[in-house]
Amino acid sequence: MDALDFGPRKELLTLVRSLRQRLQLDGEAGRPLSYLTRPVDVPGRRGLAITAEATAPAGETGLNGLGSALEEVRKELGECRRCALHRTRRRLVFGEGNPKADLVFVGEAPGADEDAQGRPFVGRAGQLLTKIIEAMGLKREEVYICNILKCRPPGNRNPEPDEIASCEPFLIRQLAAIRPKVICALGTFSSHALLKSEAPISVLRGRFHSYQGIRLMPTYHPAYLLRNPGAKKLVWEDVQLIMKALRNGV
Ligand code: SF4
Repeated sequence: MDALDFGPRKELLTLVRSLRQRLQLDGEAGRPLSYLTRPVDVPGRRGLAITAEATAPAGETGLNGLGSALEEVRKELGECRRCALHRTRRRLVFGEGNPKADLVFVGEAPGADEDAQGRPFVGRAGQLLTKIIEAMGLKREEVYICNILKCRPPGNRNPEPDEIASCEPFLIRQLAAIRPKVICALGTFSSHALLKSEAPISVLRGRFHSYQGIRLMPTYHPAYLLRNPGAKKLVWEDVQLIMKALRNGV
């Protein structure tokens, strides 16, 4: 094995790789070297450093105080008609939260409540997600919450592959704009889309994976927990690993 794989040299290589990935993400977000001017992070609590962008009231644009890079993504998405779901949606659900969050939750798609309100995770499953976030010692507005699909599949059916293919580029750009330390993929579709894996969620959960150099924890979707409360214990184990990673600065 290469001696570079050991000790301080390994750490240096890891740091260089991490910086390279960060530069790549900054470039994709149109903010080269932006992290050099960002305030020093408090490990695990970057979400508390909410900027004016994050707290600004909703403007006439309806962009709701998005960070500038996120705002660009939202503008480009527009009144999207890239897949058939635009015909049946009431409102497009882009995502909400801190545009500089350390932690991003990615679900599957809006449901009826989200479709009606234009906000992610506001129904019963969303209320459970809010409880999970608060049990982690965070506030909902400190994290960022979005879905793979921005429009509701009729009758809450599963997303079709062509719908994911049409919508996923915008999720990729959202994540590149936010650059979180940890992504929590909620449920099978989110985990499969982000990890390009078809392994069962029961196999994927419980350990970190890598998404573009960002730590990604798959866990069960809150809607699954409503049907299977016994799985809450497993989700709690997963979010504890996330909390530990955030505390340690990842
Ligand atoms: S699901 Fe995504 S790709 Fe399809 S119409 Fe909605 S925003 Fe566009």
